[in-house]
Amino acid sequence: MDVGKMYMGGEWVEAVHGDTWKVYNPATGDLVGEVAFGDGDDAKRAIDAAAQAFPGWSSATARERAKYLLKLHDLVRAHRDELAELVSLEMGKPLREAKGEVLGAADNFLWYAEEAKRVYGETIPSSVPNKRILVMRQPVGVVAAITPWNFPVNMVARKVAPALASGCTVILKPAESTPLSAIRLFELIAEAGFPPGVANLVLGKPDSIGEAFINSEKVRKIAFTGSTRVGKLLMEGAAKTVKRISLELGGHAPTVVFADADLDAAVAGVFESKYRASGQQCICTNRLFVHEDVHDAFVEKLKARVAAAKVGDGRDKSVEIGPLVNERAVEKVMRHIDDARSKGASVVHGGSRLTEGEYAKGFFVAPTILTNVQANMLVCQEETFGPVLPVLTFSDEEEVVRMANDTPYGLAAYIFTQNLSRAMRVAEALEYGIVGVNDGEVTQTQAPFGGMKESGIGREGGHYAMDEFLEVKFVSLGL
Ligand code: ADP
Repeated sequence: MDVGKMYMGGEWVEAVHGDTWKVYNPATGDLVGEVAFGDGDDAKRAIDAAAQAFPGWSSATARERAKYLLKLHDLVRAHRDELAELVSLEMGKPLREAKGEVLGAADNFLWYAEEAKRVYGETIPSSVPNKRILVMRQPVGVVAAITPWNFPVNMVARKVAPALASGCTVILKPAESTPLSAIRLFELIAEAGFPPGVANLVLGKPDSIGEAFINSEKVRKIAFTGSTRVGKLLMEGAAKTVKRISLELGGHAPTVVFADADLDAAVAGVFESKYRASGQQCICTNRLFVHEDVHDAFVEKLKARVAAAKVGDGRDKSVEIGPLVNERAVEKVMRHIDDARSKGASVVHGGSRLTEGEYAKGFFVAPTILTNVQANMLVCQEETFGPVLPVLTFSDEEEVVRMANDTPYGLAAYIFTQNLSRAMRVAEALEYGIVGVNDGEVTQTQAPFGGMKESGIGREGGHYAMDEFLEVKFVSLGL
């Protein structure tokens, strides 16, 4: 098995200190790869390469930058099956989901190839006759991007594409458990012919690499997706050199099913938003509020849908729910289920780890539905990041909005109702960056994605993401 390398300054390199890291399939426990495992010293090499490449890349025309991004789009699409298989292999998600993710990543490269050409400035009427006010937008500089394991290709694309489109150069540090798809993506970046140093890949020790990013004066921006804990560390660290930051952090998404909802559509939406990626995405439904009048009917329908979903190795095409990422994730999910049970919750479906037969070597938890849930249970207080759905009831709109907002998080929320006035009222009242109305699948390339409160700062997606990588410069022109 070849050892996967890092990519910097246009070259494939081993770790400075020669360390390596093994990658396992979470569905089977099989060893599936080995990669270079660097640290801050490797990050410094990558930063230097990115800084060297910045003057050339930032002064290239937008059309030229777009040309490389378009080529990358074509390559990612052409290799979609291979990339999707790698994602499923190292992260566990079903192939269907992995393919959707890879096509989403390709779409980002396409979108930002176009967006590169629309970095418009402005002229503003001056209050002084012999002066002119010009506003330019220029790339912020070297960007450090840090990504998690749950969307190992698209989280990268969502940062790298707008960064490169705006004229920044980039160093990517992907998650330890999913380096294989990142390496493959960088092989395609190399094939697309980007000039050396424009996009760099560093793998290895998160804290040491993070420190190198934070301490470098050359890094002008950190783009991060991951836990709120690490996001806060990076935010604090970025203060040292007043770097720009954008953070996509944890969520604790509420979903509200009103009595006037189309229950079948709500079941489909809740299933999608809860069990996709086995509940391991930050926009996953984490608390479900169902109006008391429709609670029993809704839970019955949802139970039937969940019972019909096949759990297993994501590479099996019939599988809808894959494994969790590792043992620590299983322990957390089981702790949440056990805590809820001990405080009086009823297990309507699932509730246990799957350990027999095909599940024996993987990290599987049965998709779980809990009722009789109370606010004092861990499932209502922390992000579970697993296939566990706690169901609470409510009786009126104001009460449920208050409960839904009662969290430090503010990423995504979902409501199901057929009443347009209610939909608008509640969408406005929810303190969340994304609200799905009769929609459980809210991510699109061109739409702004990001959170309020402790869920983050800044937005990815669409033209909004470009602002995160551009400085505004005011030129005062005396005539
Ligand atoms: P999770 O618990 O979901 O893995 P993390 O926030 O720990 O979320 O990880 C998200 C990304 O942040 C990963 O690439 C991880 O390696 C990286 N990371 C973890 N700790 C640090 C740190 N101290 N500095 C920089 N990056 C970090």
